[in-house]
Amino acid sequence: MNIYADNAATTKMSKAAIATMLDYMENVYGNPSSLYGIGQYAKEKLEEAREQIARIINAQPREILFTSGGSEADNQALLSAAAAGERKGKKHIISTAFEHHAVLHTLKKLEERGFEVTLLPVHTNGIVRVDELEAAIREDTCLVTVMTVNNEIGTIQPITEIGAVCRRHGVLFHTDAVQAVGHLPIDVAAQNIDMLSASAHKFHGPKGVGFLYVKKGVRIQNLIEGGAQERGKRAGTENVAGIASMAAALSESVENMEQTKARLTPVRDRIIKGLNEIPHSALNGDPDQRMYSNVNFSFEGIEGESLLILLDRKGICASSGSACTSGSLDPSHVLLAIGRKHEVAHGSLRLSLGEDATAEEADYIIDAVKEIVSYLRGFSPVWRDLTEGKKEFIL
Ligand SMILES: *Cc1c(COP(=O)(O)O)cnc(C)c1O
Repeated sequence: MNIYADNAATTKMSKAAIATMLDYMENVYGNPSSLYGIGQYAKEKLEEAREQIARIINAQPREILFTSGGSEADNQALLSAAAAGERKGKKHIISTAFEHHAVLHTLKKLEERGFEVTLLPVHTNGIVRVDELEAAIREDTCLVTVMTVNNEIGTIQPITEIGAVCRRHGVLFHTDAVQAVGHLPIDVAAQNIDMLSASAHKFHGPKGVGFLYVKKGVRIQNLIEGGAQERGKRAGTENVAGIASMAAALSESVENMEQTKARLTPVRDRIIKGLNEIPHSALNGDPDQRMYSNVNFSFEGIEGESLLILLDRKGICASSGSACTSGSLDPSHVLLAIGRKHEVAHGSLRLSLGEDATAEEADYIIDAVKEIVSYLRGFSPVWRDLTEGKKEFIL
């Protein structure tokens, strides 16, 4: 059996996204900045995609800024809010300890420039507390940035409540919604979101394209100097085919969203129940307030990397953390943020299910993980120490 269960790392392009991409590459090749017909046609199609995307998140078309993906959108949102804050002498930013590195590394850079960053705890359930966030807001807070859905443990943050608190205090609110757009309902107006990042390849669109929603009136800075594309906020000839393909993918994902959620929730819960039968294992993140596609487990006494390699041999693609951290020996910052100890965080597995995952596949995954965990524990010196009582079990 071949099961792709790493959809939080990237997704396969949908048929509609591929068809749109091919059609545009062949037929909509003009430069949207050119004045003749084929250029203006490309411009029209570009604006069509912008309207389509804006409608889905309840924004105005002029509030959508196309980018090269989620990382660029995150960078631009944070650097813009910081620049605006600095002009008013406000240099305090609130975020969380388990954001994506596109956010965390940008915050590091801002700290080097004299900004003060408060990283809120996300507790053992992997969810930010709104009362703690509100208490952290100061006179000089210029930005709150909290992700909508965590990419490793899938926990869903109380974004609507956070938006309301930020609005009440007059603080800008950005959310990295890369794991949420196309999968959960988003209404930037109702949720009081000032800036939101999204990426096409997380909802069956192409890689290398995404967008930043910027509420009208919020000052934005361009990261790339050059032409006047995207109202002067993002120079460079627009990726027309990629953008149109992203709009097609998003429309389709949103159309199927309720159905996907209803189908996947029992499959996810079946896997969680099955993996819970493994001794000295634990689910990471809240069991209920989590994406219907996410399962994340820690197993004591094994190495996540070995587990992944053996799962691959059984045709299962999974991840031990985020793609950006696998390959490095540092344990996942997300798992450390929810209080997992280093040695336990190392033995972790993330499964992010595709829309077509079935109960039969769930059972195949459960059996494979059970077999491999027990096999790996068989020759793990750490496991031997644990079972012989020389070390104490954590899980
Ligand atoms: C994938 C991801 C990103 C990065 O998006 P790219 O388009 O790959 O740059 C940012 N934030 C989260 C939460 C993600 O899952």
